[in-house]
Formats: sequence, structure tokens, C-alpha cells
Amino acid sequence: MFKKILVAVDGSEHALKAARTAGELARTTGGHVDIITAFDPIPDYLGKPYWEEAAAARMGKAEEVLAKAKEAVGEAPGGVDAEMIEGDAADVILEVAETRNVDVIVMGTRGLGALHSLLVGSQSNKVISHAKCPVLLVK
Ligand code: ATP
Ligand code: MG
Repeated sequence: MFKKILVAVDGSEHALKAARTAGELARTTGGHVDIITAFDPIPDYLGKPYWEEAAAARMGKAEEVLAKAKEAVGEAPGGVDAEMIEGDAADVILEVAETRNVDVIVMGTRGLGALHSLLVGSQSNKVISHAKCPVLLVK
């Protein structure tokens, strides 16, 4: 159980904590960790060269987010993969979880938008509402 672990990161401290927990879980179960970060689609109307600039900026940022998360996860017996995917974060997380048949989704309770008083952020809320597998929200 909990051998296929999916952790979602957005560059926040909350998500880094989730990444550390995902690594610890993998080392306990002998599992594999998939790290994903979702980025907003770039509107077509931007046109060249602005579209390319925007895409490069977004991907550069996502690379940084993934590199930090990979460090936080550390080594996992089954290996660690990291990937950036375009789209709404919760939709991307739910789709990856289903298509890859993961055993558990690990996320932070809050993320980069953690300014409000809500206990759980909108992406976490959507994932816990719709996921078909266990979800571990790291505080
Ligand atoms: P909100 O976005 O609703 O203003 P928030 O940023 O505090 O509030 P969420 O966005 O729900 O809360 O973040 C909670 C967790 O969801 C994060 O710790 C991270 O695990 C995951 N998450 C959020 N955004 C992304 C993203 N773009 N890609 C991957 N995971 C994400
Ligand atoms: Mg957010």
C-alpha cells in the first residue's frame, strides 16, 4: 500500500513540507514518488514573440519549483520523477492520479495563496472532494 505516491507542488513552503512527507512515506513503503506542478495555460492571443516569452518564463519557474521539490523528497526506493503539466492544478492532479492509478495523493493544506483564513486552499479542497484514492494533506 502507498507505493505509488503522487505529490503536488506549487513552490510554497506548504508544498515543500508535503514533498518531504512524500519522501518519508516512500522510504517507509519502498515506493516511487511522482512530483507534479501545474502551470496556467498561456493564451493564444498573445501571439509571437510574447507567447514564447511567457511560455519560457512559466516553464523556467516550474523547473525551479520541481528542482526544490525533488531535493525535499530526497531518495525513494522506487525512484523519483518530476514533471510540469499545463492546466488547472486540481484538474491536473485528479487526472494524473487516475490515469497513473496512484495509491495516495500528497499535498499541502495551503499553498502560495495562503493569505486567507480558510483552513484548506481551493485546490486541496477540490482534490479531497473528487479524488478516488486516499489524499494526505500535510499541515
Ligand atoms: P488558493 O490557491 O485557493 O488561493 P492556496 O494557494 O493557499 O489557496 P491551494 O492552491 O489549494 O491553496 O494549495 C494547496 C496545495 O495544493 C499546495 O500545497 C500544493 O500541494 C497543491 N497545489 C496548489 N497549486 C498547485 C499547482 N499549480 N501545481 C501543483 N500543485 C499545486
Ligand atoms: Mg493556490
